[in-house]
Amino acid sequence: MAIRFLNTYTRQLEEFRPLDPAGKSVKLYTCGPTVYNYAHIGNFRAYLFEDLLQRHLQARGYEVNRVMNLTDVDDKTIRGCQAAGLPLAEFTQKFKDAFFEDLKTLRVQPATTFPSATDPVYIARMIEMIAHLVEHGYAYQAEDKSVYFRLNKFPNYGKLAHLNLDELRPSGRISNDEYEKESIGDFALWKAWDAADGDVVWDSPWGKGRPGWHIECSAMSTALLGPEIDIHCGGVDNIFPHHEAEIAQSECCTGHRFVRVWMHCAHLMVEGQKMSKSAGNFYTLRNLLDKGYTGREIRYVLLSVNYRLPLNFTFESLAGARSALSRIDEWVERLTTQAASETNASGHPLAAQMRFEEALDDDLNISAALGVLFDIIRESNRALDQNALTPADARALLNWWNRVNAVLQFQREETAIPQTVLELVEARAAARAAKNWAASDEIRAQIDAAGWVVKDSKEGQKLTRK
Ligand code: AMP
Ligand code: ZN
Repeated sequence: MAIRFLNTYTRQLEEFRPLDPAGKSVKLYTCGPTVYNYAHIGNFRAYLFEDLLQRHLQARGYEVNRVMNLTDVDDKTIRGCQAAGLPLAEFTQKFKDAFFEDLKTLRVQPATTFPSATDPVYIARMIEMIAHLVEHGYAYQAEDKSVYFRLNKFPNYGKLAHLNLDELRPSGRISNDEYEKESIGDFALWKAWDAADGDVVWDSPWGKGRPGWHIECSAMSTALLGPEIDIHCGGVDNIFPHHEAEIAQSECCTGHRFVRVWMHCAHLMVEGQKMSKSAGNFYTLRNLLDKGYTGREIRYVLLSVNYRLPLNFTFESLAGARSALSRIDEWVERLTTQAASETNASGHPLAAQMRFEEALDDDLNISAALGVLFDIIRESNRALDQNALTPADARALLNWWNRVNAVLQFQREETAIPQTVLELVEARAAARAAKNWAASDEIRAQIDAAGWVVKDSKEGQKLTRK
């Protein structure tokens, strides 16, 4: 079965085919955090959905070139640094460091590149793009000295968010980074300096000022990934105005279709409301770690609901994650014991293992994928209870689990047995069966060198970490 994703732009499930003529590499742009505060777990829902996407594409053999930007200059970061009485770069650095730490805690695979908007290379690129837009009549400098995108020059404006521009009647100009659909109008590409910006300022052909938020992503995406990319992601709140503006700016600059597939995750909710900093109903990752939950449990909660569905955050769901993960841990432990043993259990290999990947091929259907995993756990536990799972089957299941875990990242760290060690155990079982004690001892030394201890008991080999 081919991979299919729901494209926000067309509202259709579409078969995924990368732009790369060799069909190997995938260009992925994911809007990153605005570093004016600690990211809340709603933000991390978006980053975890993107992590699942990246890991699944990799499991299917693609090489993913992923860019995640850091918005380190915009309306919010400027307000934040002034309130803190710090230079902008010093203020945002603290939240950048915290963000990278949080990604590690949640086992998110780092992007290939994490560009910052204030990097001089990208500021220059933003200015270059805006100049091109002005030159070709897509943008103009207004009396307030700011530069605006001319909405009526781009007839596709509104297609991503499915807006009816006739009804909305765009009028006036907008200089804020965020606004509602009702106040739609020409939006700012370059904001002329005013006193509220303090010392956050760059020179430009239009005088002193700073970039608007939207042009930042257009500049970083086209600079690092070229004019056309395969997939662009974010949360649904990014659709308008941010992604709509990105399309307009990028396409008028490059003349290419900016993005093939747009994917947006639904919000993380708290008691029926979007979790957000402005509503004040948010938890940061750190809040939950302080309450004794682990990164792995929080990862489980945020990943376990299909990304297009709203996820209602509750403490019961964290308790549910804890028990689901301990079921996985116990199962892996039982399989590990069985894999190394020499019992003469007779059984049959469990079918249906391929269904995990196939479920994710279907627009990242994680509930179906977890359903497959827990079915396998139930069946193999039953087989173990009845001494009907052979050590070879247990090893095959552990191999399968290693593959599944490369995507899910749910394994308890201490019990993760590397593939190489599993293979050594298997080779040692064969050596012992052939009564080749010298080979068996040699392999035991190799297992030891890899950080694991193998002991022989009546039931066979027992594996523990050194
Ligand atoms: P921001 O730092 O506000 O630019 O947001 C960073 C990312 O988190 C964006 O992709 C947002 O769409 C996403 N996001 C913000 N709030 C939520 C939420 N409650 N649930 C899911 N994603 C969110
Ligand atoms: Zn963005």
